[in-house]
Amino acid sequence: MVSIITIDGPSGAGKSTVSIGLANLLGYTYVDSGALYRIVALETMQKKIAEENEDALVDLCKNLEVTFRTTNGKITILNHGRDVSERIRFPDISMLASRISARKAVRNQITALQRKIGEKGKLVLEGRDAGTVVFPDAEVKFFLDATTEERGRRRFNELTLKGLSISLEQVTQDIITRDHNDSTRSHGPLKPAPDAVIINSSAMTVEAVIARMMEVIQAKKKLGGKIEWIKVKQ
Ligand code: C5P
Repeated sequence: MVSIITIDGPSGAGKSTVSIGLANLLGYTYVDSGALYRIVALETMQKKIAEENEDALVDLCKNLEVTFRTTNGKITILNHGRDVSERIRFPDISMLASRISARKAVRNQITALQRKIGEKGKLVLEGRDAGTVVFPDAEVKFFLDATTEERGRRRFNELTLKGLSISLEQVTQDIITRDHNDSTRSHGPLKPAPDAVIINSSAMTVEAVIARMMEVIQAKKKLGGKIEWIKVKQ
């Protein structure tokens, strides 16, 4: 049995920050599946591939060469050795990723890629369908949520810190549109797995969310004795 922790939830709920924190604490590999879909979107745009051209999208997915590099808790994302960490966060890529990721052919490829990475175990995987579709047998599943207003504020702060000129209203509207796309699509829609622990992070600090997750992990360890692999770094 592989040792997988899944963290699903809508955009701006704080998944990346807590997933990286949790992975660091446990000494686990961290994978951001949203980044994989974002890289597919970036390449689709750069190679001027039509969104409807599923054969070309599948080829593109098969040729991804993605590395998540952690330095002092900060993640750098490379595709074919090129740093794409900043560019994939731009709003145009967010919206394109949201549309392209609704395509079954693309989801099948990216799901297979995540499962391949998961074969080694000791993985913290963040996404939308990590606990429902990609790893339905994961030992520990979380669904991280927050109010739309709070998620809009967080994303707005992130983007303005990066120097992007965009209004809070536009960022919040983009989040509402993406939430709608992600939750209503027929393949891998955003929803909590029945056995996921739901955490609303609206009024919680990052540290509090991670502490709550560690409690759940430790409780599972005591209950099932299934996850002795957990070593907490001091
Ligand atoms: O998580 P993030 O906001 O970076 O994801 C970008 C987009 O990729 C999401 O809006 C969603 O449409 C898509 N996505 C997905 N399934 C995942 C992760 C992300 O469909 N597991």
